[in-house]
Amino acid sequence: MAAQVDVIAPREDPWAMALGQFNRAADFLPLKRGIREFLLHPKRELTVNFPVKMDDGSVRVFTGYRVHHSTVLGPTKGGIRYHPAVTLNGIRALAMWMTWKCSVVGLPYGGAKGGVVVDPHALSRGELEHLTRRYATEISILMSPEGDIPAPDLGTDSQTMAWIMDTYSMHAGHSTPSVVTGKPLSIGGSFGRAEAPGRGVWLVAREACRHVGIPLDGAKVAVQGFGAVGTTVANLLHDHGCDIVALSDTHGGIYNPGGLDPRAVRTYRADRGTIAGFPGADRITNAELLALSCDILVPSALEAQITAANAAAVRAKILVEAANGPVTPDADDILADAGVFVVPDILANSGGVIVSYFEWVQGLQQFFWTEEEVHHNLERIMRRSFGQVLQTAGEKRTTMRTAALLRAIERVADALLTRGIYP
Ligand code: NAD
Repeated sequence: MAAQVDVIAPREDPWAMALGQFNRAADFLPLKRGIREFLLHPKRELTVNFPVKMDDGSVRVFTGYRVHHSTVLGPTKGGIRYHPAVTLNGIRALAMWMTWKCSVVGLPYGGAKGGVVVDPHALSRGELEHLTRRYATEISILMSPEGDIPAPDLGTDSQTMAWIMDTYSMHAGHSTPSVVTGKPLSIGGSFGRAEAPGRGVWLVAREACRHVGIPLDGAKVAVQGFGAVGTTVANLLHDHGCDIVALSDTHGGIYNPGGLDPRAVRTYRADRGTIAGFPGADRITNAELLALSCDILVPSALEAQITAANAAAVRAKILVEAANGPVTPDADDILADAGVFVVPDILANSGGVIVSYFEWVQGLQQFFWTEEEVHHNLERIMRRSFGQVLQTAGEKRTTMRTAALLRAIERVADALLTRGIYP
């Protein structure tokens, strides 16, 4: 029997969330009306409908998107998402967040995002490969090592990137590894890329604990979304003395106030296909997980999980956004009033794009770094960025989200004015 799905589907439009967040931060800046309006609009959007031959011989049509929000700071960078709830508005929001994410941590990139409306778990490996190669071909008019460089996101992984890289290379007539990042090591990937988003989340969680005055050792942590990012976060926080009291996926969560071993949970799930029933843990829903009394809450799944409807129930002291857009603007106000220290997505999960940048640089130079060099440079950038955002939040008397956004928007606006308005 299929496990029951306990999905908290995004209840709010992510694009409305992104615009609301932008407007709050932009109000702090002396932006000319036209500049502000330009930064609000995605630069270009591509919708593709394409056929895929399925294993049973039938043909199914899938819809995909690739959105470039901004090219002001450099080529566009952003992941590709495979999920049944993908929408153009969702991809627009994620592309805009990528612009601010790259900007706030000082990368020479603009923001992009792509996605296909598909449940990747319902397709065979062969069907996924066909879908990926066709989607890559459809968006290849926007993709290039100098123009737009995709990466993994929810529902995609290093194998997906390998198929995209190979498809692009077949069309080009020569190998073009730098057209994507998040590739397997064997074809030009970087050490540390797969775990980079989670490692970055762990680094900022540590900085946040220092700031708030909570010892990391013994801190109680709840992680919503035990996927690629959530697993690394849980492992690293567990390795550094935290008690991982709750974990969840689409089927629901498990809870043990004494702490769970995330690696043992992973092994259990690999054997049984679900984390439910993990020995010594109680079953909880995703809604209950978000309301647990804990020190650090790490949403690592989808957008709009914490809204005006459930924000008052959050009892964590620190909320680190491993997912993109998990907290709505209304919920932000409630959390701020309650004194919850929120590390925003564009800062918290930037480790992925930072190490993607390292992978791109290594690929272009054909000169590869050690794992220690990757970790060291990631930590340097994340600590610096966290410190800068914290300082701005103090100076402007605002939240970490608004501080991060206003720093990011200011950098893009400065570059735009320096480049000038063509023609
Ligand atoms: P993933 O597909 O590997 O994992 C997602 C996990 O969330 C799965 O365990 C899934 O079961 C669970 N999940 C999905 N919907 C849920 C729901 N409604 N409630 C509870 N659990 C749910 O994806 P990922 O790559 O780990 O991405 C997770 C988040 O992190 C996304 O917001 C993504 O945009 C963001 N992110 C990913 C990267 C990356 O490089 N992969 C980088 C930065 C940010």
